[in-house]
Amino acid sequence: SFTIAIIGRPNVGKSTLFNRLVGQKLALVDDQPGVTRDRREGQGRLGDLDFTIIDTAGLDSGPRGSLTARMQEQTEAAIAAADALMFVIDARAGLTPNDRAFADFARRANKPVLLLANKSEGRHGEVGIAESYALGLGDPIGISAEHGEGLGDLYDALKDLMPEPIHDDELDEDDAEGEEIDPSRPIRVAVLGRPNAGKSTLINYLLGEERLLTSPEAGTTRDSIAVDVEWKGRKLRVFDTAGLRRRSRIDDKLEKLSVSDALRAVRFAEVVVLVMDAQNRFEEQDLRLADLVEREGRAIVLAVNKWDLIERTPGAIGALRESADRLLPQLRGAPLVAVSGLMGEGIDRLIAAIEMAHGTWNKRVSTSALNRWFEQAVRANPPPAVSGRRLKLNYVTQTKARPPSFVVFCSRADAVPQSYLRYLTNSLREAFSLPGTPIRITLREKA
Ligand code: GDP
Repeated sequence: SFTIAIIGRPNVGKSTLFNRLVGQKLALVDDQPGVTRDRREGQGRLGDLDFTIIDTAGLDSGPRGSLTARMQEQTEAAIAAADALMFVIDARAGLTPNDRAFADFARRANKPVLLLANKSEGRHGEVGIAESYALGLGDPIGISAEHGEGLGDLYDALKDLMPEPIHDDELDEDDAEGEEIDPSRPIRVAVLGRPNAGKSTLINYLLGEERLLTSPEAGTTRDSIAVDVEWKGRKLRVFDTAGLRRRSRIDDKLEKLSVSDALRAVRFAEVVVLVMDAQNRFEEQDLRLADLVEREGRAIVLAVNKWDLIERTPGAIGALRESADRLLPQLRGAPLVAVSGLMGEGIDRLIAAIEMAHGTWNKRVSTSALNRWFEQAVRANPPPAVSGRRLKLNYVTQTKARPPSFVVFCSRADAVPQSYLRYLTNSLREAFSLPGTPIRITLREKA
């Protein structure tokens, strides 16, 4: 399979990255430099990308600050075995002479290199990221292997290098275009959220008596662990993130769903139910998951769980919806429901919200209605002129649904500012009532 070697000087976080990608804590990662470990190989996974990964952390046994012959030898062996390299630096520490020495190996290898500026959580890595351009290994990708940040960017970069993965049939049926929604077909749903938000409780409630049937069944694919649920005639196929978690329940840290698992679940799903704990909702991680859903172009339902613990005041839900729109403007109007998985409250509304989000996500707008809106929207707020010349926006057409995607034909695609695209997106969302769904507008120059 496609093989990637993780290289870099000692203590930049290679093992942590290896563990993150392999998804198991195979080895103890020690903060001390110079901890002896063996070179390891494992099966890595990021989203739907599968690869073999070689960790050269065993090389870290050399005396601090020196690049021993053994390190050099093993790095070269790993490089020779690899199709691509992940070259890791410590973005907080900035570049050291040793980084430069390893960068020389990486360059000489003539293989694709991903330059990873690790330990970049928060804004701590900015200096190192800026310095690392000088290595001549391309644009750095800021990540935090420890905290699982930047993995989306890593995924994008890696996907560009790798041969096309073979998709499961089930994941592909997605692309069936222009079909009416078939109500007898299950809606694929992933339930995501922070640990302890109540995902398992909610899924178990939906499963009812069927809760024991969580093994992969016919109709589910090799590695997507899904369970079929029927709620008052509505079929759902639920991606069992809880099951994933159970499998890896080795210690408390592992309770956390890794980003690549989350990405897998999101890609599986048509609708993602983001479960939040009513007692502390809209936390950083919730917002990040919601953003992941938006970027992956899936429909979303916000489920505020543990509602039984909240004192119910009039207007409480309205206030939550306002918070959602303010914090997640990219998903404005996303359905939000209050539920209690424990007490089984709000489940009808949750299912209705899933159906609604699915419908919006599948929506198609007629070209004539679209262009009537477009003319009016452009007239009300014309695009800015570029170097004295008016930018001409010609017409718009919907290219696909799931999520609704549009192409605007114009005179100069690179001259349309992001803010103007946001204006069009919001206006489109209002005009055709597309609340809460990701919307894609791309620009194309008229031939
Ligand atoms: P997960 O990590 O998101 O799967 O969360 P769990 O389903 O394991 O739930 C975490 C804790 O919250 C457990 O103690 C549950 O009993 C509790 N819990 C889950 N849902 C609810 C709810 O709707 N109301 C209340 N009061 N507790 C809940």
